[in-house]
Amino acid sequence: MKKISLVIPMYNEEEMVPLLFSTLNEKLFVPLKDRYAFEVVAINDGSKDKTLELLKIEQEKYPQLVIVNLSRNWGQEPAVRAGLVTASGEAVIPMDADLQDPPEIIPQMLEMWNNGYEVVNAVRVSRKKDTSFKRNSAGIFYRFLDKISPKVKIPNNVNNFRLLDRRVVDEVNAMSETNRILRVEIPFVGFKTGAVEIVRAKRAKGESHYPLKAMVSLAKNSMLSVSVKPLEYPVYIAIFLASTYMLSAIAELVLFILKLCKVIDISSLALWSWLVINVVLFIATIIVSIQALNSLYLGKAVEESVKRPSVIIKEIIRK
Ligand code: UDP
Ligand code: MG
Repeated sequence: MKKISLVIPMYNEEEMVPLLFSTLNEKLFVPLKDRYAFEVVAINDGSKDKTLELLKIEQEKYPQLVIVNLSRNWGQEPAVRAGLVTASGEAVIPMDADLQDPPEIIPQMLEMWNNGYEVVNAVRVSRKKDTSFKRNSAGIFYRFLDKISPKVKIPNNVNNFRLLDRRVVDEVNAMSETNRILRVEIPFVGFKTGAVEIVRAKRAKGESHYPLKAMVSLAKNSMLSVSVKPLEYPVYIAIFLASTYMLSAIAELVLFILKLCKVIDISSLALWSWLVINVVLFIATIIVSIQALNSLYLGKAVEESVKRPSVIIKEIIRK
């Protein structure tokens, strides 16, 4: 029988705990009991309410529940991380505690896993339940992330709810950087990836822990985690400034020569003012070029210090 781990971070989820376990029991543990052994890794992320006590009560009923109690509130990403290193299943599924990630879809994910998929993303086909602000900002943001991401596609509308094969979990766990954003790391490590479609439900009970501040921080960390590509932008500005300066300087020189040869008549004042503009452009080009050079090396330094694997071999096939 295959062991499947559900990794569930929890911060002040006392209202959710009993409902979550009864739902998992009804939708997964009982119907799939002949095929899969479920392990639930619940991470108590420094909850200030009764989440931990309630988890201990559930543990009496469900011995397959492993409680990971964190030292304080670390945030969703670190909490999931703690769960991923603890989970022992052959496939691992991180999901939210509030039943926004529908457990009914898990049998379908497992089916795809059995058919050879090593990552199965749960893609939201509808965000109707989210506010339009959250929908639009997320849409723009994912497009930006995907744009700066080198080679790997960062899928839109997928959060942490995915099935990960043991191999993928091990690769992700082996990454050594401190700023960890799962939704960036999973596309980065690769492997055969499929998708199932979900409609993200409304939070069953309690309140969202993602105020605007936390969303902005997640967005910032995701950008920093995807790539150092934004550091290349000053290079483009430098190129733009340099070409503008050259065109402008050449144009002025030509006009100056034409004036000397008395072909055209242009006032000296105009040429002097233009010269000032050209000098300013020249200085700006120098300053931005130095900045661009710095940021290229900074990008290199960041990449080296983060020490992401430069390649991951899935298998070696010999005859
Ligand atoms: N969560 C956590 N630590 C935090 C904030 C959230 O472990 O500091 C958990 C939370 O209990 C839930 C999941 O992360 O299981 C997603 O949080 P939430 O539902 O509040 O976010 P939203 O769905 O509104 O984006
Ligand atoms: Mg939620």
